[in-house]
This record gives sequence, structure tokens and C-alpha cells, in this order.
Amino acid sequence: SHPKSPRNELGLTERDYEGAVSTLCAGCGHDSITAALIQAVFELSIEPHMLGKMSGIGCSSKTPAYFVSQSHGFNSVHGRMPSVTTGANAANNELTYIGVSGDGDSLSIGMGQFAHVIRRNLNMCYIIENNGVYGLTKGQYSASADVGSTAKKGPANRQMPIDPVSTAIGLGATYIARGFSGDKKQLVPLIKGAIAHKGFALLDVISPCVTFNDHQGSTKSYAHTREFYHHVIEADFVPPAKEIVAAYEEGAAMPVEMHDGSKIVFRKVDKAYDPTSRESAFSYLRSSVRAGEIVTGLLYIDQEA
Ligand code: SF4
Repeated sequence: SHPKSPRNELGLTERDYEGAVSTLCAGCGHDSITAALIQAVFELSIEPHMLGKMSGIGCSSKTPAYFVSQSHGFNSVHGRMPSVTTGANAANNELTYIGVSGDGDSLSIGMGQFAHVIRRNLNMCYIIENNGVYGLTKGQYSASADVGSTAKKGPANRQMPIDPVSTAIGLGATYIARGFSGDKKQLVPLIKGAIAHKGFALLDVISPCVTFNDHQGSTKSYAHTREFYHHVIEADFVPPAKEIVAAYEEGAAMPVEMHDGSKIVFRKVDKAYDPTSRESAFSYLRSSVRAGEIVTGLLYIDQEA
């Protein structure tokens, strides 16, 4: 590292928390989540050898290879990351466990495991890189695909999506947040909060799949988030970027036109929102869905957990 690079409490630089070079598609939202993870563990001054990176199968599950090389990791089988993490935790509960999964890995084959890891309130940070599609096997709909989503082959998706956030509220998770891969400013504190939380912390991150979910009518679509995404990440000095970010912060940006003509808007949670009540979190989410919104931010925290 450059001698002038900022150092954390351990005297390490952010580069010391990097991993292997990503082999994901250029522009994949998952790589932005990796960058946020690196910043979060650097800022928290986590000792690399005290980190356990866990995953299942999918493009998302390759993420642990791309941050903190000098740490522990286990790339398990499809949908089984929660059990493997439970076992690892039983053997050594002093490590910080970060599990990275996807919507395919968590909400279909891994749904039973997802429910029970929440029930056990396992002390871990569980990230879903949510793009509505099985990228690694070339674009089948996942259980979080929007109704009307289209794939390169076959008919449009007709099944209702599972929302991991509302599911986790119902199942009793003690820290629940949603972020967007293109918004590192919001994502880093949400990751840090999830790691610091004693108990199960779920972070659902909407993350565009630029290769297989790039079309009209998908809330995870790159086509609709592309402007925001590029401006924020690559060119935040470009004037329109400031407007886009400002609009997003006011809750007015990124409308996605759905197949039935309705519009869905991404926005941040209201400043006055109180995330400490499970009941209000649930009704807040329901009313935001009715209003055609996807809210991001800290949605629920049980501080007694
Ligand atoms: Fe990312 Fe999609 Fe490519 Fe997989 S297929 S690496 S999810 S862009």
C-alpha cells in the first residue's frame, strides 16, 4: 500500500482487506457490494484472521473470494450456507461471520435453511445479493423475480416474488435492512450495523444482473437503474448525478415501469421512521408496497437481542 493510505486501528489499509480479482461480468452489481464489504470490515478494524466468510452456490456466492484474502472461508453447497455457518459458529463463536448468498440460493432451495437460521438467531451478517435471477446457470427466474419478468427464452414469469425482508420480519429476525448495490454511502453503514449486531442480521441488497435481468418491468433491472448506478459509481462529478442522488434521497428517483404500466420507485426510509417496532416495520413495508415503493435503509432492529 501507499505509505500515505489511511490506516485503521490495526494499522492496516483498505487494500489489506482486498481479495482475488473478480471474475463476475463487468458491471455486475455484486462487485459494488464487494467494495462496500471491504470498506466496512476495514473501518470496523476486524482482524482478517477473525473473519469467517461463508457462502452457498451462485454468482453471489463467489463474492467471499473477492474480499479479505487472509481470512477463513467456506464455499458450501446450494442453499446450505446457514447450516454450515451454524456448525462453524458452534466450533468457534469468536469469529465474525459474514454469509453471502443470493435470491436463488436463499429463497428457493435454501428457503428452509433461511427460515431456521433466523429462528436460531445465529450471530451472523447474512447478505442476499438480490437480482431476481439465477445468473450462474444463465438466467432462469428466481423466487424473487417480478411478475411479468422476461427471460431470454420461455414465457414471462407469472409467479409472485418472495420478499426476503417481509419474510424475515415475520420469522423474527432481529436486524433487517435493505440496500442497493449502487449506493455505497448507504450500504457501508448498513453492513457495519449488521456485523455489529449481536444476533441474526439480514441485509437484502438489490443488485442488478447486467447479463440476464436487463429488461423492462423488473425492479432489479440494470436497464432502469443504469443511470443512477453509473453516475454514482463512476462519475459522481457529472451534474445529472447530483440531481439523481438528490432525488433518490428525497424519495423520488429511479422509477421502474412494470409490465402492467404501473411504476415502482426506490426510495430511502423516512427520516422519522422508527425501526424498533416489528409491527410498524411490517405495516410500513406493506403500505410502501401498496404505494409502489421499494424502501431501502434500516427497517427493523431489536436492540435487546
Ligand atoms: Fe453478475 Fe449476472 Fe454476470 Fe452473474 S450473470 S456475474 S449475476 S451480471
